[in-house]
Amino acid sequence: MAIYEYECAKCGHYFEVWQKITEEPLKVCDKCGGDLVRLIGNTGFILKGTGWYVTDYVRKEKKNGSGEKGNKPETEKTGNLS
Ligand SMILES: [Zn+2]
Repeated sequence: MAIYEYECAKCGHYFEVWQKITEEPLKVCDKCGGDLVRLIGNTGFILKGTGWYVTDYVRKEKKNGSGEKGNKPETEKTGNLS
């Protein structure tokens, strides 16, 4: 489950909703029938029970980055974050 934020492009109606990852995104505003825009990136989502967290993304991006020296020990291991 993950929290998705939606905002209506027409009337500005904003709300959050818990949905399964596989669930279809909402598209129609229930207030005015306008187009809904799903806001992603503001709220990290957590997949409970999998050990997969948004922080994994950050770490991978750092690892691939060329700006760092890369000598820092990786103290966090996947799966130990619970
Ligand atoms: Zn609306």
